[in-house]
Amino acid sequence: MFDNLSYKLDRAFKTLKGTGKITEINVATTVKEIRRALIDADVNYKVAKEVTDTIKSEALGRDVLISVSPGQLLVKITQEELTKLMGGTKEDINLKGDPNVILISGLQGSGKTTFSGKLATHLKKQGRQVLLVACDIYRPAAIEQLKTLGEQIGVEVYAEPENKNALDIASKAIAYAKKNGKKNVIVDTAGRLAVDEQMMNEISDLKENLDPAETLFVVDSMTGQDAVNTAKTFDERLDFDGVVLTKLDGDTRGGAAISIRHVVDKPIKFISTGEKMENLDVFYPDRMAQRILGMGDVVSLVEKAQQSFDEDEAKRINAKIRKNQFNFDDFLSQIEQIKKMGNLKDLMGMIPGMGKMIKGLDIDDDSFKPIEAIIRSMTPLERENPDVIDGSRRKRIADGSGRSIQEVNNLMKQFRDMRKMMKQMNKMGGAQRALGNLM
Ligand code: GDP
Repeated sequence: MFDNLSYKLDRAFKTLKGTGKITEINVATTVKEIRRALIDADVNYKVAKEVTDTIKSEALGRDVLISVSPGQLLVKITQEELTKLMGGTKEDINLKGDPNVILISGLQGSGKTTFSGKLATHLKKQGRQVLLVACDIYRPAAIEQLKTLGEQIGVEVYAEPENKNALDIASKAIAYAKKNGKKNVIVDTAGRLAVDEQMMNEISDLKENLDPAETLFVVDSMTGQDAVNTAKTFDERLDFDGVVLTKLDGDTRGGAAISIRHVVDKPIKFISTGEKMENLDVFYPDRMAQRILGMGDVVSLVEKAQQSFDEDEAKRINAKIRKNQFNFDDFLSQIEQIKKMGNLKDLMGMIPGMGKMIKGLDIDDDSFKPIEAIIRSMTPLERENPDVIDGSRRKRIADGSGRSIQEVNNLMKQFRDMRKMMKQMNKMGGAQRALGNLM
């Protein structure tokens, strides 16, 4: 996410040399570079100009404290201004109404159906009752897609494949939800490849008649400036409540995330960063600004870990580590837990300073594949007692997994090092506890 923009901004800040005061002269080049980086990232020209003008006047007005360099101060001001530009504070979706209807709008392919499933998962995790409604009356495949998603996440889907009247389907679905205690009704609607009158009439008709508590506009962030223009057109007709930016995991240049709020004056409420149901984040302008500036986002990282990690499993593994019994089955289970947290590259980018290091590297779930293949080729006995794995077993494991002996040896070595480290930590913990008892 935002690799290039982060890199260019970092370079821009480096052009601000010296330690003294920020002056018109020394800040001019840097501000120009920041503006260029934003425009290259597909930020609307007017928005880029406005924000950099503000950054400049803010920078000139502030005293540089002895402890920070002008460069550091400028990073801080840029972070503040980007945060403001993206809305300042997080805004939640409205969950009032009985039932509470959430209408999902957007172009075809923007990610509406996928998002509907993710939002259902998100609400279900909070212990809410959800009904998904398939109102894409033009594409039978879309109805099937939603049904499959519903099955996968354990959320009921209301559909009437023969009915060609979206409002009628949605109205019946709401009546059904009332009868069946489903407090939240997510209505997935039909999109078109481009804005057209019929689609707009249909979606505004749904909005007028269903009176949703929340109307969300879903937009593909990879479409850059188009995303902003489409948002404007939809908002003029729909007056929606919030934006969902999808596909931020891809090669997006990030411009949409930065300019949409300013141009449309509606908050971004969620961002979607992958095809899996877990790849959904509530949008926090300040955390996003930090990420754009390569400062990482540790708060989100910890939250993700808390959400995805199975607490019982964590306790079980912890106990095994303490008893020096960590084995290959536990190793596999840890990999599964990490994969559940989401896109690996994005996760690593949340560690301060890491974004720059991994720029351009290919890191994804596939990176674990060789390791998983090797472990899965071990017998249960070998996984549980790695010490029995001798030369001939290694060869068999290599053949079985289609990896080289070298890779198997490397994994064995890494695993031994890991166990050694765990043992040492246990010992140190023991020593510390002993000391603690003495003091
Ligand atoms: P709809 O036509 O608006 O309902 O769009 P879909 O939900 O069918 O999504 C279109 C395509 O985009 C599908 O292949 C999805 O898997 C994919 N998609 C949706 N959201 C994301 C995302 O956040 N990241 C990525 N990489 N793909 C996504």
